[in-house]
Amino acid sequence: MGVDIVDAVLNTYRKLPKRAHPGVRPNGSLEWSILAGFVIEYNGIFECVAIGIGVKCLSAIKIPLQGDMVHDCHAEILAKRAFIRYLLNEMMNINKGDQSRYLTLQEGKYRLNEGVKLHMYISALPCGDASMIYTADHQNDDEAALYSAIPSLSGASNEHTDLVRGRMNYSRVGAIRTKPGRADASSTSSLSCSDKLATLCLLGVQGGLLANIIDPIYIDKIIIGGVFDNREKYLSECHRALYTRLEASLSGCVPDTKYRFHKPDISFTDTPYEHSKEQVESRAAGVDVQPAIECANYIANDIQKPTEIVVSGLKNGNFKRKGPDTPYFWKYRSRLCKLDIMRAYMSLNANPGPSNLTYYDVKNTAGSSDYRQVKGAIRSHPSLFAGWIITDKKYTMFDCEGNHRL
Ligand SMILES: [Zn+2]
Repeated sequence: MGVDIVDAVLNTYRKLPKRAHPGVRPNGSLEWSILAGFVIEYNGIFECVAIGIGVKCLSAIKIPLQGDMVHDCHAEILAKRAFIRYLLNEMMNINKGDQSRYLTLQEGKYRLNEGVKLHMYISALPCGDASMIYTADHQNDDEAALYSAIPSLSGASNEHTDLVRGRMNYSRVGAIRTKPGRADASSTSSLSCSDKLATLCLLGVQGGLLANIIDPIYIDKIIIGGVFDNREKYLSECHRALYTRLEASLSGCVPDTKYRFHKPDISFTDTPYEHSKEQVESRAAGVDVQPAIECANYIANDIQKPTEIVVSGLKNGNFKRKGPDTPYFWKYRSRLCKLDIMRAYMSLNANPGPSNLTYYDVKNTAGSSDYRQVKGAIRSHPSLFAGWIITDKKYTMFDCEGNHRL
Protein backbone atom coordinates (compact mmCIF):
# COMPACT_ATOMS: atom_id res chain seq x y z
CA MET A 1 0.00 0.00 0.00
CA GLY A 2 1.21 3.47 -0.77
CA VAL A 3 4.06 2.12 -2.90
CA ASP A 4 3.85 5.08 -5.30
CA ILE A 5 4.19 7.52 -2.41
CA VAL A 6 7.15 5.71 -0.83
CA ASP A 7 8.90 5.26 -4.18
CA ALA A 8 8.45 8.94 -5.04
CA VAL A 9 10.19 9.99 -1.81
CA LEU A 10 12.93 7.33 -1.80
CA ASN A 11 13.79 7.83 -5.47
CA THR A 12 14.07 11.58 -4.94
CA TYR A 13 16.12 11.04 -1.77
CA ARG A 14 18.60 8.78 -3.59
CA LYS A 15 19.32 11.49 -6.14
CA LEU A 16 20.22 14.10 -3.50
CA PRO A 17 23.87 15.10 -3.05
CA LYS A 18 25.76 12.63 -0.82
CA ARG A 19 26.07 15.16 1.98
CA ALA A 20 22.32 15.12 2.51
CA HIS A 21 22.58 11.44 3.45
CA PRO A 22 23.83 10.20 6.83
CA GLY A 23 27.54 9.42 6.50
CA VAL A 24 30.60 8.29 8.44
CA ARG A 25 31.92 10.40 11.30
CA PRO A 26 35.66 11.20 11.51
CA ASN A 27 35.98 8.56 14.25
CA GLY A 28 34.46 5.93 11.99
CA SER A 29 30.98 5.80 13.54
CA LEU A 30 28.22 5.17 11.02
CA GLU A 31 25.32 7.59 11.06
CA TRP A 32 21.58 6.95 10.68
CA SER A 33 18.68 9.36 10.35
CA ILE A 34 14.96 9.71 9.70
CA LEU A 35 13.51 10.69 6.33
CA ALA A 36 10.15 12.36 5.73
CA GLY A 37 8.64 13.62 2.50
CA PHE A 38 5.52 15.19 1.05
CA VAL A 39 4.11 13.84 -2.19
CA ILE A 40 1.52 15.47 -4.41
CA GLU A 41 -0.79 13.12 -6.30
CA TYR A 42 -2.42 14.55 -9.39
CA ASN A 43 -3.87 12.77 -12.41
CA GLY A 44 -2.29 9.49 -11.31
CA ILE A 45 1.22 11.00 -11.02
CA PHE A 46 3.06 11.09 -7.70
CA GLU A 47 5.61 13.89 -7.28
CA CYS A 48 7.80 14.27 -4.22
CA VAL A 49 7.85 18.03 -3.63
CA ALA A 50 9.50 18.40 -0.21
CA ILE A 51 11.83 16.32 1.96
CA GLY A 52 13.26 16.60 5.48
CA ILE A 53 16.09 14.47 6.86
CA GLY A 54 17.10 14.80 10.49
CA VAL A 55 16.84 13.81 14.14
CA LYS A 56 18.14 16.92 15.93
CA CYS A 57 16.41 19.60 17.98
CA LEU A 58 18.02 22.65 19.62
CA SER A 59 17.50 23.04 23.35
CA ALA A 60 15.07 25.71 24.55
CA ILE A 61 17.85 28.14 25.53
CA LYS A 62 19.06 28.27 21.93
CA ILE A 63 15.83 29.64 20.45
CA PRO A 64 16.81 32.99 18.90
CA LEU A 65 14.92 36.28 19.22
CA GLN A 66 15.60 37.01 15.55
CA GLY A 67 13.72 34.02 14.06
CA ASP A 68 16.90 33.15 12.19
CA MET A 69 17.50 29.52 13.23
CA VAL A 70 15.52 26.31 12.73
CA HIS A 71 15.32 24.81 16.18
CA ASP A 72 13.22 21.72 15.44
CA CYS A 73 15.13 19.68 12.87
CA HIS A 74 13.23 16.40 13.11
CA ALA A 75 12.55 15.08 9.60
CA GLU A 76 8.77 15.52 9.75
CA ILE A 77 9.04 19.17 10.78
CA LEU A 78 11.75 19.99 8.21
CA ALA A 79 9.58 18.36 5.53
CA LYS A 80 6.57 20.42 6.60
CA ARG A 81 8.54 23.66 6.52
CA ALA A 82 10.06 22.68 3.16
CA PHE A 83 6.53 22.09 1.86
CA ILE A 84 5.54 25.58 3.01
CA ARG A 85 8.50 27.00 1.05
CA TYR A 86 7.41 24.85 -1.90
CA LEU A 87 3.96 26.49 -1.75
CA LEU A 88 5.53 29.96 -1.47
CA ASN A 89 7.70 29.28 -4.55
CA GLU A 90 4.62 28.18 -6.50
CA MET A 91 2.82 31.37 -5.43
CA MET A 92 5.78 33.50 -6.55
CA ASN A 93 5.77 31.73 -9.93
CA ILE A 94 2.07 32.47 -10.36
CA ASN A 95 2.69 36.13 -9.47
CA LYS A 96 5.35 36.26 -12.20
CA GLY A 97 2.79 35.02 -14.70
CA ASP A 98 3.98 31.40 -14.79
CA GLN A 99 1.66 28.44 -14.43
CA SER A 100 1.59 26.22 -11.38
CA ARG A 101 0.58 22.61 -11.89
CA TYR A 102 -1.14 22.41 -8.54
CA LEU A 103 -2.16 25.93 -7.46
CA THR A 104 -4.43 28.65 -8.85
CA LEU A 105 -4.84 32.28 -7.80
CA GLN A 106 -8.48 33.34 -7.47
CA GLU A 107 -9.74 36.60 -6.05
CA GLY A 108 -6.56 37.25 -4.09
CA LYS A 109 -6.39 33.74 -2.61
CA TYR A 110 -4.51 30.69 -3.76
CA ARG A 111 -6.13 27.31 -3.90
CA LEU A 112 -5.12 23.75 -4.67
CA ASN A 113 -6.46 22.64 -8.02
CA GLU A 114 -9.35 20.19 -8.06
CA GLY A 115 -8.11 16.61 -7.64
CA VAL A 116 -4.74 17.49 -6.08
CA LYS A 117 -3.96 15.30 -3.05
CA LEU A 118 -1.18 15.56 -0.50
CA HIS A 119 0.48 12.53 1.11
CA MET A 120 3.30 12.04 3.58
CA TYR A 121 5.94 9.36 4.00
CA ILE A 122 7.95 8.96 7.23
CA SER A 123 10.71 6.35 7.51
CA ALA A 124 9.97 5.59 11.19
CA LEU A 125 7.19 6.02 13.74
CA PRO A 126 7.02 9.71 14.73
CA CYS A 127 8.58 10.52 18.12
CA GLY A 128 6.19 10.95 21.04
CA ASP A 129 2.87 9.21 21.50
CA ALA A 130 2.82 7.17 18.27
CA SER A 131 6.10 5.40 19.10
CA MET A 132 5.93 4.94 22.90
CA ILE A 133 4.61 1.37 22.95
CA TYR A 134 6.78 0.34 20.00
CA THR A 135 9.87 1.75 21.72
CA ALA A 136 8.97 0.07 25.02
CA ASP A 137 8.52 -3.26 23.20
CA HIS A 138 11.87 -2.96 21.41
CA GLN A 139 14.20 -1.45 24.05
CA ASN A 140 16.70 -3.34 26.18
CA ASP A 141 16.36 -3.83 29.96
CA ASP A 142 18.66 -0.91 30.89
CA GLU A 143 16.69 1.55 28.81
CA ALA A 144 13.42 0.22 30.19
CA ALA A 145 14.59 0.79 33.78
CA LEU A 146 15.81 4.29 32.96
CA TYR A 147 12.63 5.48 31.35
CA SER A 148 10.11 3.82 33.64
CA ALA A 149 11.73 4.73 36.98
CA ILE A 150 11.75 8.48 36.60
CA PRO A 151 8.47 10.28 37.21
CA SER A 152 7.16 12.55 34.49
CA LEU A 153 8.64 16.03 34.33
CA SER A 154 6.97 19.15 33.11
CA GLY A 155 8.67 21.19 30.42
CA ALA A 156 10.90 23.93 31.79
CA SER A 157 8.66 26.79 30.77
CA ASN A 158 5.35 25.05 31.22
CA GLU A 159 3.06 25.35 34.19
CA HIS A 160 0.74 22.52 33.25
CA THR A 161 1.43 19.03 34.48
CA ASP A 162 -0.07 17.17 31.53
CA LEU A 163 3.06 17.56 29.48
CA VAL A 164 5.56 14.72 29.69
CA ARG A 165 9.23 15.17 28.90
CA GLY A 166 10.55 13.00 26.06
CA ARG A 167 10.20 9.30 26.75
CA MET A 168 9.72 9.57 30.51
CA ASN A 169 6.87 7.51 31.91
CA TYR A 170 6.40 5.76 28.62
CA SER A 171 3.44 3.75 29.80
CA ARG A 172 1.35 6.93 29.81
CA VAL A 173 -0.24 6.69 26.42
CA GLY A 174 -2.02 9.60 24.82
CA ALA A 175 0.06 12.25 26.65
CA ILE A 176 1.57 15.20 24.87
CA ARG A 177 5.35 15.10 25.06
CA THR A 178 8.38 17.25 24.34
CA LYS A 179 11.41 16.33 22.25
CA PRO A 180 13.89 14.73 22.46
CA GLY A 181 13.48 11.20 23.69
CA ARG A 182 16.88 10.91 25.35
CA ALA A 183 16.90 11.07 29.14
CA ASP A 184 20.34 12.72 29.28
CA ALA A 185 19.70 15.42 26.69
CA SER A 186 19.03 19.02 27.64
CA SER A 187 15.40 19.94 27.51
CA THR A 188 13.67 21.38 24.47
CA SER A 189 10.42 23.26 24.33
CA SER A 190 9.45 21.63 21.04
CA LEU A 191 6.56 19.24 21.09
CA SER A 192 7.02 15.72 19.76
CA CYS A 193 6.32 15.01 16.09
CA SER A 194 3.27 12.90 17.07
CA ASP A 195 1.76 15.95 18.76
CA LYS A 196 2.60 18.35 15.95
CA LEU A 197 1.30 15.95 13.29
CA ALA A 198 -1.94 15.41 15.22
CA THR A 199 -2.71 19.13 15.16
CA LEU A 200 -2.21 19.20 11.37
CA CYS A 201 -5.34 17.00 11.03
CA LEU A 202 -7.30 20.09 12.03
CA LEU A 203 -5.03 23.06 11.26
CA GLY A 204 -3.65 21.81 7.93
CA VAL A 205 0.01 21.80 6.88
CA GLN A 206 0.12 25.31 5.38
CA GLY A 207 0.85 26.92 8.76
CA GLY A 208 -0.33 30.20 10.29
CA LEU A 209 1.28 32.64 7.84
CA LEU A 210 -0.04 31.00 4.69
CA ALA A 211 -3.43 30.61 6.36
CA ASN A 212 -3.88 34.25 5.36
CA ILE A 213 -3.86 33.41 1.67
CA ILE A 214 -4.75 29.74 1.22
CA ASP A 215 -7.42 27.40 2.59
CA PRO A 216 -6.28 24.55 4.86
CA ILE A 217 -4.37 21.76 3.13
CA TYR A 218 -4.76 18.36 4.77
CA ILE A 219 -2.73 15.17 4.48
CA ASP A 220 -4.66 12.32 2.83
CA LYS A 221 -2.32 9.40 3.43
CA ILE A 222 0.53 8.91 5.88
CA ILE A 223 2.80 5.96 5.07
CA ILE A 224 5.23 4.93 7.80
CA GLY A 225 8.33 2.73 7.46
CA GLY A 226 10.37 0.68 9.90
CA VAL A 227 7.53 -1.33 11.47
CA PHE A 228 7.70 -5.01 10.58
CA ASP A 229 6.08 -6.84 13.52
CA ASN A 230 2.73 -6.56 15.35
CA ARG A 231 1.49 -4.08 12.79
CA GLU A 232 -2.12 -4.17 13.90
CA LYS A 233 -1.14 -3.10 17.41
CA TYR A 234 1.18 -0.29 16.27
CA LEU A 235 -1.29 0.93 13.68
CA SER A 236 -3.91 1.45 16.36
CA GLU A 237 -1.26 3.39 18.36
CA CYS A 238 -0.75 5.62 15.31
CA HIS A 239 -4.45 6.21 14.87
CA ARG A 240 -4.78 7.29 18.48
CA ALA A 241 -1.62 9.40 18.55
CA LEU A 242 -1.93 11.11 15.19
CA TYR A 243 -5.67 11.64 15.11
CA THR A 244 -8.22 10.16 17.53
CA ARG A 245 -6.93 11.59 20.81
CA LEU A 246 -7.19 15.14 19.48
CA GLU A 247 -10.59 14.65 17.89
CA ALA A 248 -12.00 12.95 21.01
CA SER A 249 -10.74 15.63 23.42
CA LEU A 250 -12.05 18.45 21.24
CA SER A 251 -15.43 16.96 20.46
CA GLY A 252 -17.97 19.78 20.12
CA CYS A 253 -15.40 22.49 20.96
CA VAL A 254 -14.09 23.40 17.51
CA PRO A 255 -15.43 26.71 16.21
CA ASP A 256 -17.40 26.41 12.99
CA THR A 257 -14.95 27.53 10.30
CA LYS A 258 -13.44 26.08 7.14
CA TYR A 259 -11.07 24.13 9.42
CA ARG A 260 -12.42 20.60 9.94
CA PHE A 261 -11.01 17.34 11.23
CA HIS A 262 -9.46 15.45 8.37
CA LYS A 263 -8.60 11.86 9.24
CA PRO A 264 -5.50 10.68 7.37
CA ASP A 265 -5.34 7.15 6.02
CA ILE A 266 -2.36 5.66 7.92
CA SER A 267 -0.48 2.53 6.82
CA PHE A 268 2.95 0.87 7.00
CA THR A 269 5.30 0.09 4.14
CA ASP A 270 7.51 -2.98 3.66
CA THR A 271 10.12 -0.92 1.81
CA PRO A 272 13.12 -0.27 4.06
CA TYR A 273 14.88 3.12 4.23
CA GLU A 274 18.58 2.36 3.77
CA HIS A 275 19.75 4.89 6.37
CA SER A 276 17.31 3.97 9.14
CA LYS A 277 18.89 3.04 12.48
CA GLU A 278 18.01 -0.63 12.00
CA GLN A 279 19.33 -0.80 8.43
CA VAL A 280 22.61 0.92 9.32
CA GLU A 281 23.04 -1.32 12.38
CA SER A 282 22.48 -4.41 10.27
CA ARG A 283 25.42 -3.39 8.05
CA ALA A 284 27.63 -2.02 10.82
CA ALA A 285 29.42 -5.30 11.70
CA GLY A 286 30.51 -4.10 15.14
CA VAL A 287 31.15 -0.47 14.13
CA ASP A 288 29.59 2.18 16.39
CA VAL A 289 26.28 3.61 15.12
CA GLN A 290 25.14 7.17 15.92
CA PRO A 291 22.32 9.56 14.94
CA ALA A 292 23.35 11.95 12.14
CA ILE A 293 24.56 15.40 13.22
CA GLU A 294 23.67 17.06 9.95
CA CYS A 295 20.10 17.57 8.77
CA ALA A 296 18.89 18.39 5.26
CA ASN A 297 15.89 19.57 3.34
CA TYR A 298 14.86 19.42 -0.30
CA ILE A 299 12.40 21.62 -2.19
CA ALA A 300 11.52 20.42 -5.69
CA ASN A 301 10.79 23.84 -7.20
CA ASP A 302 13.87 25.61 -5.83
CA ILE A 303 15.66 25.46 -9.16
CA GLN A 304 18.88 27.13 -7.93
CA LYS A 305 19.42 25.00 -4.84
CA PRO A 306 16.97 22.18 -4.30
CA THR A 307 18.97 20.74 -1.37
CA GLU A 308 20.14 22.52 1.78
CA ILE A 309 22.20 21.16 4.69
CA VAL A 310 21.28 22.37 8.17
CA VAL A 311 23.60 22.00 11.17
CA SER A 312 22.78 23.35 14.63
CA GLY A 313 19.81 25.26 13.20
CA LEU A 314 21.89 27.09 10.55
CA LYS A 315 22.84 26.48 6.93
CA ASN A 316 25.99 24.39 6.68
CA GLY A 317 27.18 24.76 10.24
CA ASN A 318 27.99 26.54 13.42
CA PHE A 319 28.58 30.27 13.13
CA LYS A 320 28.99 33.00 15.72
CA ARG A 321 26.77 36.10 15.78
CA LYS A 322 28.51 39.45 15.33
CA GLY A 323 26.63 40.69 18.41
CA PRO A 324 23.97 39.18 20.65
CA ASP A 325 21.21 41.17 18.92
CA THR A 326 22.55 40.89 15.38
CA PRO A 327 20.68 38.53 13.10
CA TYR A 328 22.70 35.98 11.19
CA PHE A 329 23.76 37.04 7.70
CA TRP A 330 21.45 35.54 5.05
CA LYS A 331 24.19 33.18 3.83
CA TYR A 332 24.19 31.41 7.20
CA ARG A 333 20.43 31.13 7.59
CA SER A 334 18.36 28.17 6.52
CA ARG A 335 15.53 29.01 4.13
CA LEU A 336 13.27 27.18 6.60
CA CYS A 337 13.79 29.56 9.54
CA LYS A 338 10.86 31.79 10.53
CA LEU A 339 12.66 34.92 9.30
CA ASP A 340 13.23 33.61 5.77
CA ILE A 341 9.74 32.13 5.50
CA MET A 342 8.37 35.53 6.54
CA ARG A 343 10.57 37.29 3.96
CA ALA A 344 9.35 34.96 1.19
CA TYR A 345 5.76 35.52 2.29
CA MET A 346 6.17 39.31 2.35
CA SER A 347 7.75 39.29 -1.11
CA LEU A 348 4.47 37.92 -2.55
CA ASN A 349 2.84 41.24 -1.88
CA ALA A 350 3.80 44.17 -4.08
CA ASN A 351 2.85 46.49 -1.18
CA PRO A 352 3.97 44.60 1.90
CA GLY A 353 3.21 47.48 4.29
CA PRO A 354 5.52 49.29 6.70
CA SER A 355 8.98 47.79 7.09
CA ASN A 356 8.71 47.68 10.86
CA LEU A 357 6.05 44.96 10.72
CA THR A 358 7.05 42.01 12.88
CA TYR A 359 6.51 38.31 12.34
CA TYR A 360 3.87 38.58 15.06
CA ASP A 361 2.05 41.37 13.17
CA VAL A 362 2.15 39.50 9.90
CA LYS A 363 0.80 36.32 11.50
CA ASN A 364 -1.96 38.09 13.39
CA THR A 365 -3.86 39.62 10.52
CA ALA A 366 -7.57 39.33 9.77
CA GLY A 367 -7.09 36.83 6.91
CA SER A 368 -6.07 34.07 9.32
CA SER A 369 -8.45 34.73 12.20
CA ASP A 370 -10.20 31.37 11.64
CA TYR A 371 -6.86 29.63 11.91
CA ARG A 372 -6.07 31.34 15.20
CA GLN A 373 -9.52 30.60 16.62
CA VAL A 374 -9.11 26.91 15.89
CA LYS A 375 -5.54 26.88 17.20
CA GLY A 376 -6.83 28.59 20.34
CA ALA A 377 -9.39 25.79 20.81
CA ILE A 378 -6.64 23.17 20.43
CA ARG A 379 -4.64 24.85 23.20
CA SER A 380 -7.54 25.32 25.63
CA HIS A 381 -9.44 23.14 28.04
CA PRO A 382 -10.84 20.48 27.48
CA SER A 383 -8.39 19.79 24.66
CA LEU A 384 -5.73 17.23 25.41
CA PHE A 385 -3.33 19.86 24.09
CA ALA A 386 -4.17 22.40 26.78
CA GLY A 387 -0.65 21.83 28.19
CA TRP A 388 0.97 22.90 24.92
CA ILE A 389 4.04 25.09 25.47
CA ILE A 390 3.12 28.38 23.86
CA THR A 391 6.02 30.14 22.21
CA ASP A 392 6.68 33.33 24.13
CA LYS A 393 5.61 36.36 22.09
CA LYS A 394 9.12 37.78 22.35
CA TYR A 395 10.33 35.10 19.90
CA THR A 396 8.00 36.46 17.22
CA MET A 397 8.85 40.17 17.58
CA PHE A 398 11.43 40.41 14.80
CA ASP A 399 11.02 42.34 11.59
CA CYS A 400 11.90 41.42 8.00
CA GLU A 401 15.56 42.29 8.58
CA GLY A 402 15.77 40.08 11.66
CA ASN A 403 15.88 43.07 14.05
CA HIS A 404 14.20 42.46 17.35
CA ARG A 405 11.52 45.03 18.14
CA LEU A 406 10.50 44.68 21.74
ZN1 LIG B 1 10.27 13.71 15.89
